[in-house]
Amino acid sequence: MKQIRVVIIGGGFAAVQFAKTLRGKLRASECEILLFNRENHMVFHPLLADVAGASINADAAAAPLRQMLPGVACRTERVQRIDLATSEIEYDDGNGALARLHYDHLAIACGAESNLGIIPGMTEHAFAFKVMRDAIDLRQHVVHQMENAEAAGDPDLRRWHLSFIIVGAGFSGVEVAGEINELVRSSTRFYRNFRKEDVVVSLVHSQDQILPEVAPKLRIFAQKKMEKAGITMRLNTRAVAATHDGIELKDHQMLRGATIVCTIGTTISPLIQHLDVPKEKGRILTSPEMRVQGQLNVWAIGDCALIINAFDNKPSPPTGQFAEREGRQAALNLVRILKSEPTKPFYFKALGQLCSIGGYQAVAEMMGLRISGFLAWFLWRGVYLFKLPTWSRRFKVALDWAWDVLFPRDLSFLNTDSEQNVTHAYYLPGDFIHRQGELARTFCIIDEGEVEALKATEENAEPQVVAVLSKGDFFGEATLMGNRPHETSVRARTVVRLTQIGSGLFSQLAGASAPLRDLLSRTLARRSGDFWRRLPLAKTLLSDEPLASLMDPIPAKSLSKETSFADAVVALNESPSGELLILDEQQRLWGTLDRQDLYDMIARIAVIPVEARGDVTRRKLSELLPGSLHYVSLDDSTLVATATMLDHGISWLPVVHSKDDLRPVGCLRGARIGSRMIQKLSQSAPAHAQSAG
Ligand SMILES: Cc1cc2nc3c(=O)[nH]c(=O)nc-3n(C[C@H](O)[C@H](O)[C@H](O)COP(=O)(O)OP(=O)(O)OC[C@H]3O[C@@H](n4cnc5c(N)ncnc54)[C@H](O)[C@@H]3O)c2cc1C
Repeated sequence: MKQIRVVIIGGGFAAVQFAKTLRGKLRASECEILLFNRENHMVFHPLLADVAGASINADAAAAPLRQMLPGVACRTERVQRIDLATSEIEYDDGNGALARLHYDHLAIACGAESNLGIIPGMTEHAFAFKVMRDAIDLRQHVVHQMENAEAAGDPDLRRWHLSFIIVGAGFSGVEVAGEINELVRSSTRFYRNFRKEDVVVSLVHSQDQILPEVAPKLRIFAQKKMEKAGITMRLNTRAVAATHDGIELKDHQMLRGATIVCTIGTTISPLIQHLDVPKEKGRILTSPEMRVQGQLNVWAIGDCALIINAFDNKPSPPTGQFAEREGRQAALNLVRILKSEPTKPFYFKALGQLCSIGGYQAVAEMMGLRISGFLAWFLWRGVYLFKLPTWSRRFKVALDWAWDVLFPRDLSFLNTDSEQNVTHAYYLPGDFIHRQGELARTFCIIDEGEVEALKATEENAEPQVVAVLSKGDFFGEATLMGNRPHETSVRARTVVRLTQIGSGLFSQLAGASAPLRDLLSRTLARRSGDFWRRLPLAKTLLSDEPLASLMDPIPAKSLSKETSFADAVVALNESPSGELLILDEQQRLWGTLDRQDLYDMIARIAVIPVEARGDVTRRKLSELLPGSLHYVSLDDSTLVATATMLDHGISWLPVVHSKDDLRPVGCLRGARIGSRMIQKLSQSAPAHAQSAG
C-alpha cells in the first residue's frame, strides 16, 4: 500500500481519538499522520471548573499531545485556510510566513469557540470558560478579589469584591458556580475582614430550572443543594449587558459583582466560517459515515460538525462523549475506505450525564440509573479519573484531589501588574468611570459614545458638568502625569466603550514617544483646568449664562449622510456661515461640516490607493467623515459648551433637544460667547475690583 498523508486539524476529544485509532490500525509505512493544534496540549474540559476552583492544578487537566500520541507528528500551529480544490491546508509556520501542505485525507476537528460578543459588555468584563487560560485567569481573579475584599474599608466595595456572577446554568455554569462557591466560602477562615455571609455567588439562567440537560428530579436536587450551599439562583431572567459594576438583567435590575463568568454563547471557528461546504447553524453537514457532504477525502467530527446519530436519527449533541466516539468511528471508516470495505454510519448510545455541583455533591444519570449526592460525586470523580487521557494525568489529578480533601485550597496567586495592561471597558448611560478624588489608574481613550466630566467645587455641592468628550477623545492624562487624584468625575452619557491603558504602560509610552508627549502637553494646556484657574470669574459667568440666550438658528440648509462629496462642496460654498448640519433619516444630528472638514476629507481621500478610489466626487459623506460628533444639549450649561469647543479646538457647536433626542435646535458660536463674556466681565469689573480692594 502506498503511504498516504492524513492531516488532522484540532487537538481535542475528536481529533485525539481519530489520531489514536488511525495509528493503531495503520502502520507508519502506510500512513503519515500530522495533527495541527493551536496549543501543544489537549484540554480535558470537564475538569476546567476544578482548575478555576483551585482543587486541581492546571497541568493536571492539560495533556501534552506529542506524549499522548506516539507515532503522530504533532504541530503547534494554527491552520489558516483549507483549499478543497487542491487538497491543501495553509498554516502559519510560526515565523510569520504561510506554508502549504498537501493531504490525501483531512479530518476537521477544530471544535467551537466561545463568543462573548452576544451580550454587550461581556467581551470587556466577563471571563469566558472554554480554554485552559480562561480557567487559570479566573482562579487568579477570584483569589485576587478575596485579597481586595480584605483590604477594602468600605462595606459596599467589600461586598462587590465578594460577589461572583455566573451567567448560564448548563453543565459548565453549574460546575464553575459550585467550585467558586466552595473555594471562596472554604477560604474565609484565612481572612479577617469578611465572613461566609458576605459572599454572594449568583447563577443567572433564562429558564425556570437549572441544568436543562438532566432529568427534572435531578435538576431540583441540584438546585436545592446549591441553594443550601449559599448560591443564589436568578432564574427566568437574562443578562442584557455587562459593565465594570456587574450585569444588567432584562428587567433593568443591576446585579453587582466584581466577577462575571459567561458560560453561554459559542461560535464556529473562523476556519469553518470561510469554508465553502454545506452547513447548518454554522456546523458542517456530514454524510452518515462522517465525510463532509460533497467531499470524498474530507471528514468533519466533534463540535464543529453536525452528524446524525443512526441510534436515534437525531443530530449528535456537542459533548466530549460524542466527539470521542465520532473520532474513533470516523477513523475506522477511513481505514475501511482504504481497504475498499463498506463504511458504517455513526451510531452511539449515550452513556449518561455527570455534573458536579460543589461541596462534594453531584448529580448523575448513568445506564438508566439516577444518582445524586455524595455517591454521585464519588462516581463523577471515578469516571473522569478513568477517562483522563494518560496514566500520568490520572495520578496527578488523583493526588490533587486527595490533597484537596486533606488540606485547604491553595490561595497563592501571581500578582500580574495591572499597571502594564491594556484593557477594554463598557459602560451604560449614567455609570461613573471614575469619581473626583479617586486615584488615577488608567489613561482612557473613547472608542464609542460620549462621557461628561463633572466637578463639585465645594464639599457636598451638586457637581456641575464641565466638559463633554466623545469618540477619539481621551482623559486621565492630567492626573497620571501629575500623579494626583482626579479633579473631576467622569460619567457615561451614552453607552461607552473605552480602551484603558494602565498607568505604568502609559508613563512608558508618554516617556518614549515624543509625538505622544507633544500631543498630551498641548491637550493639557488646552484643557480647561489651567484656563479656568486663570479666569475664575469667567467660569462663574459662563455657568450662570443660559445656553439658549446665546444660540443662533440652525443653518437653513442641511445635508444627509448620503449626500455626495461633490454636492457637499457646492452646498458649503453656498452656505453664508460656511457651516452645515448633517442629519439622519429621522432628522437627528449625524454630523457637521465646515471648511476644515472639507480639507480633512480631501486628506482622507488622498491616502486611498488610486486604483481603489473610484469616482471620488460620488463618494458619500458617511464614507468620508469620521463618526466623532461634538454637540451639547439644551440642558447643558454655556460653560460645558465653551469647554467642549476649547477642548476640541472648534469654533461652533450644534445644540440638540436633549441627550435622548438629537434633533438640532440651534448653533453656538465661540465668537458670540466670547463677546458676551467680555461684555459681562467689563460690567462686573468695577464691583470685582472694589471687593478685591
Ligand atoms: C467548561 C466545559 C465543560 C464541559 N464538560 C463536559 C462534560 O462534562 N462532558 C462532556 O461530554 N462534554 C463536556 N464539555 C463539552 C466538550 O468539552 C466538547 O464537546 C468537546 O471538547 C468537543 O471536542 P472537539 O474535539 O470537537 O473540540 P475541542 O475539544 O474544543 O478541540 C478543538 C481544538 O481545535 C483547536 N483548533 C481550533 N481551530 C484551529 C485551527 N484553525 N488550527 C489549529 N487548531 C485549531 C483548538 O485549539 C482546540 O484545541 C464541556 C465543555 C466545556 C467548555
